[in-house]
Amino acid sequence: MRKYSAFAIAREAARHHSGWERAWRSPAPKPFYDVIIVGAGGHGLASAYYLGKNFGITNVAVIEKGWLGGGNTGRNTTIIRSNYLQDPSAAIYEKSRSLYETLSQDLNYNIMFSPRGVIMLAQTHHEVRGYLRTAHANALQGVETRFIDKHEVKKLVPIMNIEGPRYPVLGGLWQPRGGTARHDAVAWGYARACSDMGMDIIQQTEVTGITRDGGAVAGVETTKGFIGCKKLGVVVAGHSGVLAEMAGFRLPLESVALQALVSEPIKPIMDVVVMANTVHGYMSQSDKGEMVIGGGTDSHNNYTQRGSFHHIEETVRALIETFPMLSRLKMLRQWGGIVDVTGDRSPILSKTPVDNMFINCGWGTGGFKAIPGSGWGFAELMARGHSPLTAEFGLERFREGRFIDESVAAGVAH
Ligand SMILES: Cc1cc2nc3c(=O)[nH]c(=O)nc-3n(C[C@H](O)[C@H](O)[C@H](O)COP(=O)(O)OP(=O)(O)OC[C@H]3O[C@@H](n4cnc5c(N)ncnc54)[C@H](O)[C@@H]3O)c2cc1C
Repeated sequence: MRKYSAFAIAREAARHHSGWERAWRSPAPKPFYDVIIVGAGGHGLASAYYLGKNFGITNVAVIEKGWLGGGNTGRNTTIIRSNYLQDPSAAIYEKSRSLYETLSQDLNYNIMFSPRGVIMLAQTHHEVRGYLRTAHANALQGVETRFIDKHEVKKLVPIMNIEGPRYPVLGGLWQPRGGTARHDAVAWGYARACSDMGMDIIQQTEVTGITRDGGAVAGVETTKGFIGCKKLGVVVAGHSGVLAEMAGFRLPLESVALQALVSEPIKPIMDVVVMANTVHGYMSQSDKGEMVIGGGTDSHNNYTQRGSFHHIEETVRALIETFPMLSRLKMLRQWGGIVDVTGDRSPILSKTPVDNMFINCGWGTGGFKAIPGSGWGFAELMARGHSPLTAEFGLERFREGRFIDESVAAGVAH
């Protein structure tokens, strides 16, 4: 595949852009692959990419029931940070954040990584104590964060009202190299690189069954017929429980809708990402000028990819105290995704009760930031049977009570 470069753009400009190749092939499935990954979201595609790049395994198919990046990967608010409290979380999220720094160059695809900085506001004394603790933990973990006072917060975000009547801003946990990236581009960049390595990305093909040969996986039934494999990776976010049931086991997961919205575009007013976890709202400004706003999950389980109206109302109402200017903006559009939430709000990257079947899920409301790190670790787990990045995230932790409790630590997980 031709490299994207300034020279290539100049050449194509001179010939009316008639020479660009397709970014990825759309092949018919082969009867057998060394590895099948189900789910062409960011995590599935990144897993395939690092299988090829780090382990030379390229006889790989990524099977997607819709279009690649059409799940949560193309529906999130793109916040990237690694300021987690627990050591295993900080390790995988910081690996991920550091891979994001050079991902555009690595993939030869502009994923628009914007390390503009992320503030998590402290609006109660409990949060101040919590974030001070996280800042100390991050120092030990090698994650660059700092607790800043309310005046520094105001300097970073002049439009913020820090003297709100209910929840005045007392300070914040600041991660200067956190930020955002273009979500579709992350999926597209990985897809293009996978296709370039000879992997098959098979879209519009649903996995409808998992075939076992004794205790091991033999392949998958799909809407395009049976496809055999030596190893199977299931990376389907909100549908993980459905796929696990096909293989005959259950997962400690709930699927719920999480939604987000954008305002009409306005001139640049805020060049950092702000998360207000007490009131449960978070916001950044897109390159187009829209205010990108997210809140909490629906309280009931469902697979609708929509979300309910009262959540939007609650999220916006909560943010207006801290950002009064929001009350004068119109909402442009709203959407939802189905997120897969575990009890300890930490992911599952694990072997399963079925030999040669692996699962990568449970990223819940916060997995966009983890895509490169998760792919890196999951590829190693699938190739070698073990990865230091994923070791603590096995399914057995639920049986053994070894939770990696980020819900208590962070309050919010985006
Ligand atoms: C509104 C919203 C806001 C969010 N905000 C953030 C944020 O700011 N920062 C952050 O880090 N994270 C955020 N997240 C979470 C993040 O989007 C997800 O954790 C992440 O994208 C999950 O990626 P994935 O590849 O695991 O799943 P997905 O992108 O959902 O990919 C799974 C794929 O599997 C496919 N699939 C399912 N079943 C089958 C089947 N039977 N056969 C074949 N294919 C199948 C689906 O079609 C889908 O494309 C947000 C999520 C939402 C919904």
